[in-house]
This record gives sequence, C-alpha cells and structure tokens, in this order.
Amino acid sequence: MSEKTLFQQIADREIPADIVFEDEMCIAFRDINPVAPTHILIVPLKPVPTLNDLEAEDEMLMGHLFLVARKIAEDEGLENGYRTVINCGKEGGQEVYHIHLHLLGGRQMVWPPG
Ligand code: 5GP
Repeated sequence: MSEKTLFQQIADREIPADIVFEDEMCIAFRDINPVAPTHILIVPLKPVPTLNDLEAEDEMLMGHLFLVARKIAEDEGLENGYRTVINCGKEGGQEVYHIHLHLLGGRQMVWPPG
C-alpha cells in the first residue's frame, strides 16, 4: 500500500484529477464532489496532515495558498465573491488528512456553514 496521501498521489499523477494550477509549492484541482459551481482544492506539495501540524516554517506556504486562491478565483470569474475554508480534524469535518484550502464560489454562500 502506498504511504503517500491521496493528494500526493494526485500531484504525482498516480490518480487523475482536473488540475487547474500548479507551481513549486502547491497544486490545485477540482473537487471530485463539488458543493458549489466552483469547488477547487488548493493543496501544498508538503503533506502537512492538519492545521494543527503546521510549523513556523510553513507560514509563507500557507499565505501562498491564499494568494493562489485569489488568482484562481479571478480565473474562474468569481468577481462577486467566494469562500475559502480549511477543515481541521473530525469535528471540523476534515476527511483527507493532507491540509488543503477549499475555494468555493459561483453561488450565494450562507452562514453559519453546516
Ligand atoms: P475535507 O473534508 O478533508 O476538508 O475535504 C476533502 C475533499 O476532498 C472533499 O471535498 C472531497 O470531495 C475531496 N476528494 C476526496 N477524494 C477526492 C479525489 O479522489 N479527487 C478529488 N479531486 N477530490 C477528492
């Protein structure tokens, strides 16, 4: 069994995905089960499991994910706004333990989230 995370396997092209952006720090691809017209996951190549596992050296990496989110949102035409989400742990609703930023847009978001 592979020890790579699901998202590392996507980054390594071992599992297919609709990749929309990639650079030396992260990869972004469409969620397989979208909950909005635009639902993209922005994933650092470094396989940090959760937000709780971040280290001081990851500060720039996490900021980078948000700048990539902004760029993709512009590419996707989300001029009316969008939402970014990081789920953390069981009660946070995290399913894949490789940290990722959800970019959601193309419909009105509601608050509070489910
Ligand atoms: P989490 O709940 O961990 O914050 O989000 C994990 C996300 O990964 C979910 O929205 C889920 O639909 C998505 N996902 C799970 N497996 C795959 C896959 O194989 N390919 C893609 N593109 N997305 C996946």
